[in-house]
Amino acid sequence: MITIDGSEGEGGGQVLRYSAALALLTGEPFTIRNIRGGRAKPGLMRQHVTALEAACAIGGAECSGLTVGASELTFRPGSVTPGEYHFAVGTAGSTGLVLQTVLVPLMLADAPSRLVIEGGTHAMAAPPFEFLQKTLLPVLERMGPKLSITLERHGFYPRGGGRIVVNIDPSPLRPIECVDRGAFKDGKVEALVAGIPFDIADRELRAARKVLAEWPDEAFAPVQLRAEHGPGNALVLEAEFEHVTEVMSGFGKLGVPAERLAKSAAKRMAGYLASQAFAGPYLQDQLPLPLAMAGRGTFTTVKLSEHTRTAMSLIERFSGRGFRVSETAEGTHLVEVC
Ligand code: AMP
Repeated sequence: MITIDGSEGEGGGQVLRYSAALALLTGEPFTIRNIRGGRAKPGLMRQHVTALEAACAIGGAECSGLTVGASELTFRPGSVTPGEYHFAVGTAGSTGLVLQTVLVPLMLADAPSRLVIEGGTHAMAAPPFEFLQKTLLPVLERMGPKLSITLERHGFYPRGGGRIVVNIDPSPLRPIECVDRGAFKDGKVEALVAGIPFDIADRELRAARKVLAEWPDEAFAPVQLRAEHGPGNALVLEAEFEHVTEVMSGFGKLGVPAERLAKSAAKRMAGYLASQAFAGPYLQDQLPLPLAMAGRGTFTTVKLSEHTRTAMSLIERFSGRGFRVSETAEGTHLVEVC
């Protein structure tokens, strides 16, 4: 039984999701205390309960203490059963983060799975649909499994109601090198608006264009979604390289000027473009788990996030697999499974 202090490291929901995934992959049960102890409002939120329920459903696991607001729980994994599953967060909590909990165990299962996940698809502090579709899944597919994802309906904060469908055709994971991102091919910025004034999209695109001044005018486009999918707004920025497509994003929130969210998302993209790194600030914490399960693998990235450091330390505790981190001559960080 592994005991985890949920306030350590990044101190948020990722500690919990990663622990559940690792428990399913290694067979190790765990107890976690101080759940999300590093957050202003600690304890389990609805979306974390759904993520853990998903882990229990696919992994034949038993989980005591699984209620909204709980600060402690014990998770005992069973065996992973692939198949058809439907998970509904019930709020705008992230569909991508529910997927993050069960994806790698199902990629290593002995038969295909189809997941329908309902909740937020474009929510704050979580991977938006485009990141899953264009950044994460194509990299994971290079390891062997066949993966597809479709967006059936957008889900924004606070209403949720989004829906994604994910197909997972498993295979043993082969090690990959994500070191060189190759030549830049294309850049694109879309401002999604649903049921809110259209000029918000224009203001965001103008602000993003000031930062990404080298991208041509036609790279910036507003996208009007059906009003009943909203109210909602997201800015999605994509940089396509030969070997990876990185997606950065910003999400509209009452009280945050459109210009401010667009500028900060565009600056994040500019920082990535200026580096030589393969993985940006969000892909980097998704790679350690599949690479560790493959037994080998490397990636280059921008400055390591606390999420990534926390992921690596949890993997070491559950699986014994370590990581070596070094700085390259170009100033990127090289992470190797060892
Ligand atoms: P936590 O804050 O512990 O709930 O974890 C949030 C997770 O969402 C981490 O895996 C982050 O890398 C990921 N994440 C947060 N914001 C984004 C974003 N804009 N794009 C992609 N992934 C994100």
